[in-house]
Amino acid sequence: MAQDCIFCKIISGKIPGDFVYQDDRLVAIRDINPQAPTHVLVMPRRHIKSMADLGAEDTELMGHLILVAHQIASNEGLADRGYRLAVNHGPEGGQFVRHIHFHLVGGRQLTGSLG
Ligand code: AMP
Ligand code: ZN
Repeated sequence: MAQDCIFCKIISGKIPGDFVYQDDRLVAIRDINPQAPTHVLVMPRRHIKSMADLGAEDTELMGHLILVAHQIASNEGLADRGYRLAVNHGPEGGQFVRHIHFHLVGGRQLTGSLG
């Protein structure tokens, strides 16, 4: 746990989060500023700062995360409608919280633009 990390604080229960999924390795919470009817953040419990901090030992973890993200999307009724799963990395990627997380966004027609 990183003392100054907002997501670590949510994961450890120090501040509240709206959890939609939890297991021993991952959590998923609803984004506090949703960009669509469904906007969930899926992340490892472990404080991994960014894509650049992933190692080969995280291969199974990240595969698990992607499968869980699709399961959450299914639970939200989005498996057939469609959704977007996106990760922001670094300053130009728009990453503000330095605890790796995947945005699961859906429930409205998304545009082609990622910028
Ligand atoms: P990023 O720009 O990829 O780092 O995304 C960070 C996301 O975290 C943004 O979409 C924020 O709205 C969201 N966020 C920030 N603080 C919280 C919080 N306390 N609970 C839930 N989501 C949050
Ligand atoms: Zn953290």
